Amino acid sequence: MSTFLENTKKFITAAATIAHIPGDSLAKLEKPDAILSFEVPVGSGAGSWQKYPGWRVQHSNVLGPYKGGIRFHPDANLDEVEALASLMTWKTSLMGLPFGGAKGAVRVDPQKLTAVELEELSRGYVRAVWPDIGPDKDIPAPDVGTSPRVLDWMVDEYARLVGHQELAAFTGKSVEQGGSRGREIATGFGGFVVLREFLKNQDSKFQILNSQCRVAIQGFGNVGANIAKILFENGFTVVAISDSRGALYEEEGIDIAKVLAEKEKTGIIDRDLCYAVSSEKMRAGSKCTELRNRELLTLPVDILIPAALENQITVENAAEIRAKVILEMANGPVTPEAEELLIQKGIDVIPDILANGGGVVGSYFEWVQSREGTYWNEEEVLRRIDEKMTEAFRNVVGIRKEYNVSWRLASYIGALTLVVQKMQN
Ligand code: NAD
Repeated sequence: MSTFLENTKKFITAAATIAHIPGDSLAKLEKPDAILSFEVPVGSGAGSWQKYPGWRVQHSNVLGPYKGGIRFHPDANLDEVEALASLMTWKTSLMGLPFGGAKGAVRVDPQKLTAVELEELSRGYVRAVWPDIGPDKDIPAPDVGTSPRVLDWMVDEYARLVGHQELAAFTGKSVEQGGSRGREIATGFGGFVVLREFLKNQDSKFQILNSQCRVAIQGFGNVGANIAKILFENGFTVVAISDSRGALYEEEGIDIAKVLAEKEKTGIIDRDLCYAVSSEKMRAGSKCTELRNRELLTLPVDILIPAALENQITVENAAEIRAKVILEMANGPVTPEAEELLIQKGIDVIPDILANGGGVVGSYFEWVQSREGTYWNEEEVLRRIDEKMTEAFRNVVGIRKEYNVSWRLASYIGALTLVVQKMQN
C-alpha cells in the first residue's frame, strides 16, 4: 500500500495536470522547505530518561507564515508529518488565509504518560523548535493527542525562552490562557458548515430532513465529538460513533449529549450505559450494539464521517462502503485508489482540505485576536468561520463545474493555483 505522503502527492499531481501547473513550480512544492528532526527527553520520575523522536516539517510559506498542528501519537513518523504539512499548505490556501503549511509530531503514546511527563514533553518540544517558530514564522496548534492544556505549556515555555509572552506564536490555547472562544469546536463547526452547504447544493439525492439523515462518525476526539454534537443538536440521526476501543451502533440514533456528559465525568465512552434517543429503549436501559471499528465504516448510512486517522478507507474496504457521502474530517482517511472506486459507486467524497479547514480558520482568527490583544465572543468567531467556509465551499463548487472534476480535485486545483500564482508574482 502507498504511504500517506505518496497518496498526497498523487492528489497534487492529478490536480496539477488538469490545471496545467508548470512542472518547475510543482517541483518546488514537492519537497518541504525544512525538516527539523530531534529527540525530546522525558524523565520517568524514577531517575531514568526516555527520548522520543520528534519532527517539525515546514512545507511552504509562499502565502504566509507556516501553520500547522502538533501530533503526539505512538505511530507518528516523518512520512506522515511531511504529508500533513503539505496538506496544511493546500488547506490554508483553499481557505483564503495568509498562512503556509507545516506540521509537527512526537512518536509517543500520550496516554501512557503522567501529567508531569506530558508537560515535560510539551516543553521539550518547544525547546527543540523555538528558534524556528514564532508569530511571523511558524505557528503551531493542537492535533491528535494534543490539547489546549498542552498548548498552554508550550506558550509558557516559549515565553521563558524568548523572554516575553508571545500569545500569537501558538493557536489552540485555552480561553483562560489567551485562546479564542470557539477554537475548540472550530473544526467540527466548519465541517458542519461544509455539510450544510453540500446538502443545500445537492439535487434529489438529499432532499430529506436532517432527522432522516443517518450519520456514522469514526473517532470521538476533538473533531469527531464536536461534529457529532453539532449534528445531533441540528436534528441529524447519529447512528454510530467510535473511538480507538471500538464502535457503538444504535439503529434509532445515539443521544450524543448523554455520551458527552458521561465522557466528561470519566474521560471514556462507557459502554455499559444506555445512549438510545428512543424513550422506550431508554426506559428499558438497552445498551448500544458494539461493533468493530471496521464495521462502522461500512454501515448503510447517508453520511460517513471519518474523524480519526489517515488510510481508513482503502481498496480493501472501499467496495463495501454504503454511505452516500463521505465527509473527511480526519486528514487523509481515503486513499486515491479507494476514492476512484467510491466515485464509480456514485459516492461523494468531500476532501479533508475543505471539510476540516474550520480548524485552521479558527486558528487564524485566534492569531488575529492574539496579535491585536482583542477577544471576540463565540458567536462572532463562529459567524466569521461560517462565512469563510461557505466562501471556500462555493469556490470549490465553481471549480468543480468549470473542470468537471471530483470534489477533491476541484479543491486541490483551487489551492494549488493560488500558491503557484503567488510564486510567480
Ligand atoms: P483526538 O486525539 O482529539 O481524537 C482522535 C480520536 O480518534 C480519539 O477518539 C481516538 O480514540 C480515535 N481513534 C483513534 N484510532 C481510531 C480508530 N482506529 N478507530 C476509531 N477511532 C479511533 O484528535 P483530533 O484532534 O480529533 O483529530 C482527528 C483527526 O482530525 C486527525 O486526522 C487530525 O489530523 C484531524 N484534524 C484535527 C484538527 C483539530 O483542530 N484538532 C483540525 C483539522 C484536522
